[in-house]
Amino acid sequence: MEKVFTHENRMIVYNMRNLLQGEGIETVMKNEFSGGGVGDLPAFDTWPEIWVCDESQAELALSILDDVTHSAASEDWFCNGCRETNDAAFRLCWNCGQSHE
Ligand SMILES: [Zn+2]
Repeated sequence: MEKVFTHENRMIVYNMRNLLQGEGIETVMKNEFSGGGVGDLPAFDTWPEIWVCDESQAELALSILDDVTHSAASEDWFCNGCRETNDAAFRLCWNCGQSHE
């Protein structure tokens, strides 16, 4: 297995995983339920992680994630679907998964 993605925001990790699953890449999550209790900031080493089961698919997974996370946008943006604020680094809404166009 190979780790391809980690982020402090669990919703973003979920969305990235859905994206990979949609491309037919089998993944597992680690640290999914770890971290502090409500209101605590989890430590870096307990961020949820996405691992690709088949290492031959890791490169494809990374290129998909790279495509999603390297947006030209440099400012936070508002989702048209749910009005959540999204980090400029992400082209997909962390909350509802809608893409930012
Ligand atoms: Zn949204």
